[in-house]
Amino acid sequence: MQELFIKNSKQREWIERLSPLETDFKERASLIDEEGSFPYENIQSLRNMGYTKLTLPTEFGGAGFSLYDAILLQEKLGSYDGSTALSIGWTLMTVGELFENRNWHPEKLAYLADEVNNGAIINRAVSEVATGSPIRGGRPGTNAKQVDGKWVINGCKSYTTCSPVLDYFLTSAWIEEKETVGFFLIPKEAEGLSIQENWNVIAMRGTGSHDLVLENVAVDESDLVEIPSYQTGFKLNGWGLLISATYLGISQAARDYAVQFANTHSPNSIEGTIAGLPNVQALIGEIDLELYKARFALYGAAEAYLDEQRIKKMTNGALVTKHIVTNAAITVVDKAMRIVGAKSLQLSNPLQRYYRDVRAGLHNPPMDDLTISKLAQTAIQQ
Ligand SMILES: Cc1cc2nc3c(=O)[nH]c(=O)nc-3n(C[C@H](O)[C@H](O)[C@H](O)COP(=O)(O)OP(=O)(O)OC[C@H]3O[C@@H](n4cnc5c(N)ncnc54)[C@H](O)[C@@H]3O)c2cc1C
Repeated sequence: MQELFIKNSKQREWIERLSPLETDFKERASLIDEEGSFPYENIQSLRNMGYTKLTLPTEFGGAGFSLYDAILLQEKLGSYDGSTALSIGWTLMTVGELFENRNWHPEKLAYLADEVNNGAIINRAVSEVATGSPIRGGRPGTNAKQVDGKWVINGCKSYTTCSPVLDYFLTSAWIEEKETVGFFLIPKEAEGLSIQENWNVIAMRGTGSHDLVLENVAVDESDLVEIPSYQTGFKLNGWGLLISATYLGISQAARDYAVQFANTHSPNSIEGTIAGLPNVQALIGEIDLELYKARFALYGAAEAYLDEQRIKKMTNGALVTKHIVTNAAITVVDKAMRIVGAKSLQLSNPLQRYYRDVRAGLHNPPMDDLTISKLAQTAIQQ
């Protein structure tokens, strides 16, 4: 079905380049999930093939992939391994958004482009235990002070996806003397930076979304790269849909597994396989209906995002799309498990992992309640 949304040879070529990774990524996924370890090899393979610089514009030496292009690939990767796709997705998203907005000093942006060209990966570290999701507007507890011409940063960020291999942590902190939030570009080698390996959850276990601990981390003045126009939280943008695409990919893997199972499972109470049964066909049809809805929303939103004029009206569109896709993914996996029956609960069965993984999407921004209330507020204002 993704086939419907592939529009050009560049996209197709990259989808084909990813396909040799499928077997290895799927095989490793189960052990990584069981151990809660990190997919180092997968990330390295993606770095080696230049995946991490796909969303860097061509004028900076990257592949210049649009949000639409990157969504196609993230969806595909999500169907191979959700944790790998989510981990690498934050880099595509951060780079895509930074080079689209170009709010940084040009020299610093050029520096980051060089780093990305050399394979560096980056993610935003914004969430904290006390503030929860920054999208709610809480002020970061992490703080930055100017001392002897340096910024000295102290604090702890939670849920820092891909932390075991990130080269740069784009970290939000409260700057008391400026009474604002600022973003600091902190390299992994910075003295006082450590990772507390405490990501022990039931979903997306292989994303290494540990705590980032900053103890008197000193960076140059120029490493204060962004002072956002908003005072707290962070602004939503279309690039966040790369995360939704990951969950869609996971649900596609669940659907494929269930259809394959239906075509081969043949209990002795019937002739042929369960694929011939009306109850099973109803579930398969409902699954594909959900996937169609999710893809039309996702690729429709990404298409609108390509358009300079429509991009400005996208905020609610991105919120709605995330809501639709995340919930569709959860529904699809649920129905896939109903088709497979009790075997779907076996720890050796990938469906139980997909079931846990897609739930994480609910807790990536924007959360559902926020979308619903934003829609209501917009309607009332209008
Ligand atoms: C797999 C995964 C990867 C992630 N990766 C990253 C990452 O790389 N970088 C990063 O910075 N973050 C990351 N996050 C964190 C994520 O973006 C959210 O910040 C985090 O999940 C929020 O945690 P919470 O739900 O416990 O917090 P809270 O926001 O505290 O929410 C807890 C509950 O309180 C409610 N609530 C809290 N405040 C309000 C409010 N003001 N109004 C209404 N309801 C409220 C919520 O609805 C929810 O029911 C990741 C999360 C997951 C699950």
